[in-house]
Amino acid sequence: MIKPDRVVTTTCPYCGVGCSLELHVKDDFIYKVTSPFDSPVNHGNLCVKGRFGYDYIYHPRRVTTPLIRRTPQEAGKRTQAFDLSEWREVSWDEALDYAADKLVEIYKRDGSDAMAVYCCAKATNEDNYLLQKMYRALFRTNNVDHCTRLCHAGSVVALQQALGSSAMSNTASQVMMNDVFIVTGSNTTENHPIISLQMKEAVRQNGAKMIVIDPRRIELVDFAEMWLPLKPGTNVPLFTAMAYVIVDENLVNHDFIDDRTEGYTEFLSSLEKFTPEYAEEICGVPAEDIRRAARLYAKAKNGAIYWGMGISQLSHGTASALALIHLAFLTGHIGRDGTGLNPLRGQNNVQGASDMGAMPFHYPGYMRVDNEENAAKWEKTWNIEPGGLSRKLGLTTTEILGHAHPGGVRALYIMGENPMMSEPNLNETRKHMEQLEFIVAQDIFINESGAFADVFLPATPFAEKEGTFSNTDRRVQRVRMAHPPRGRSRPDWQIICDLAQRIESRLGLATAKWDYSNPEEILREMATVNTDYAGITYERIDKVGLIYPVPDLNHPGTPTLFTDDFPRGRGKFHQLDYVPVMEEADDEYPFILTTGRVLEHWHGGTMTRNSSLNEAYPEARVDIHPADAEIHGIRNGDPVKVQSRRGEVILRATVTEKTSVGVVFIPFHFAEAAANLLTNDALDPQAKIPEFKACAVQIFPARENDLANPDVILDRGRY
Ligand code: SF4
Repeated sequence: MIKPDRVVTTTCPYCGVGCSLELHVKDDFIYKVTSPFDSPVNHGNLCVKGRFGYDYIYHPRRVTTPLIRRTPQEAGKRTQAFDLSEWREVSWDEALDYAADKLVEIYKRDGSDAMAVYCCAKATNEDNYLLQKMYRALFRTNNVDHCTRLCHAGSVVALQQALGSSAMSNTASQVMMNDVFIVTGSNTTENHPIISLQMKEAVRQNGAKMIVIDPRRIELVDFAEMWLPLKPGTNVPLFTAMAYVIVDENLVNHDFIDDRTEGYTEFLSSLEKFTPEYAEEICGVPAEDIRRAARLYAKAKNGAIYWGMGISQLSHGTASALALIHLAFLTGHIGRDGTGLNPLRGQNNVQGASDMGAMPFHYPGYMRVDNEENAAKWEKTWNIEPGGLSRKLGLTTTEILGHAHPGGVRALYIMGENPMMSEPNLNETRKHMEQLEFIVAQDIFINESGAFADVFLPATPFAEKEGTFSNTDRRVQRVRMAHPPRGRSRPDWQIICDLAQRIESRLGLATAKWDYSNPEEILREMATVNTDYAGITYERIDKVGLIYPVPDLNHPGTPTLFTDDFPRGRGKFHQLDYVPVMEEADDEYPFILTTGRVLEHWHGGTMTRNSSLNEAYPEARVDIHPADAEIHGIRNGDPVKVQSRRGEVILRATVTEKTSVGVVFIPFHFAEAAANLLTNDALDPQAKIPEFKACAVQIFPARENDLANPDVILDRGRY
């Protein structure tokens, strides 16, 4: 039995649940992960990623030395370099000077609009705050975004429009107070495993009734009172038909509507056509089931809604989320413990990165960049001349690459993200990446996007740095260093501070502070303006974190929001109409493809595919229903080609009733069969989120030899 040198308590770097981890360290090496039983988030439970997915830290492919490309890259002719022989190892000074020289050269020549940055929902609050500050304070641009745009932007915009706040209204563990709850567009068991445990416990222990609304027969269906298997992309008619039933059968909470909402009368007029029978025709869900689900939720004492990317990743993602919000307004299932509107946030710190202003329309604290008063506050904090910060809304993640051309974005800084896996329509994304004039990648591996870069800055994973993450519950928790950084890698916040000082001196500025002695100083600076975090100190969150808003140093935190009012005052109903997905199945492309995660992997795979989890789930698979498989002569395990109007992938088929007839599912973690080669880059007009959840595809039998070899793909970055 190994005796650890130390056991370090920290927060899981994978999903938004934010489980507490205990890292057991011997000789500066983590050999085991456990979890404290008194953690209020996970009570000692961990999923396979939290428990075993940490050994990527020690993978030989991890890059721990600053690198510069040997062959200078030209816009339009940029290539990927996975092989480290195409890079040369350099000192930190050389790498940072090179990055600063090139970024400043482009900024001086082409101005603020030429500069853009992807912040990172994997990195800490402190890292994200500093990176957006660097771009706003030094390059005077709001072209700052991160992957929230690709997962919950539809939910964020809808919640802002209807309530004035985009965070989860309640905490996930309050599911134990629900007597009825809806889970929709969320394969919670694979995406938020510990929350799914709590959901099952609520059903088993408390007799709560769970309504699953999802095109796939996800594991939670086994525990559900009802499963409504709607066709992908038909959320608005289904949820609005539920609203119709609630109004039609007078299950409405009139007091709540009178006291807390506006726009109800206009909303009623838009409801008329959304009968359950109309919805059945579109969604394929029997009208009687829609009625029953509506009654169950409306008559609950404490009803709540939990949703995932199946709601937001559509070209009408904002409308989908608004249709759910209406259900809570109609019934008054919000503003009390055990109720609420709960978009389950994907990445470990996507909530925090958004709070820190890693978004093109908002400073930290969701303060609009085009509001004079807000801009003035940040100018004062960052010691910038009045009027110095840009008031122009920045480009979103999805727009930044579309603007990669002469006269548009010329230099891109990528911290920890991987657009070459996560953007839709990757063949198009590739063309945009090739057009960029200069790319900085700050990461731990050279992934599909870092391979396009000119300079690589080796950062540290979560176990080699200090800071905070904010989970889906709005709980701000500590991230702690278990051992020193490997090689010459450095924590992100230190890299950003060093680079910012170089940029500042080249621009002849002496403005904002960059010489922080520790990450807490960074968080405290942010909290002087973003008062949701005003009462958060590292000492106060030492054990179990605090749930913001925490407006002062004595405040205990706020697990339940909107108890008296909404940030915008009254909750606002919106009139909705049914808009089909942008690409429906037809004779040429008869299947609808939907994409998502599997339990063993995470997003573009930069971490999990370089960990032992890859052995548990080593290759991409496409799920196809047995009835469809039979028609196409496909057996379980056969290689197949899946083709859309934008690209094709070859992978093995899994014949399973988990998916519905006419719907196929591909996880998006596998570079050798990247689901996003197929997906549609059509955007929600308001949230600018792509339609990842529905595009038309065709399936053909393929040959064994046509399958890409995942070992070769994974080996391409080896020294
Ligand atoms: Fe980590 Fe999420 Fe698993 Fe918890 S549920 S261990 S936070 S991946």
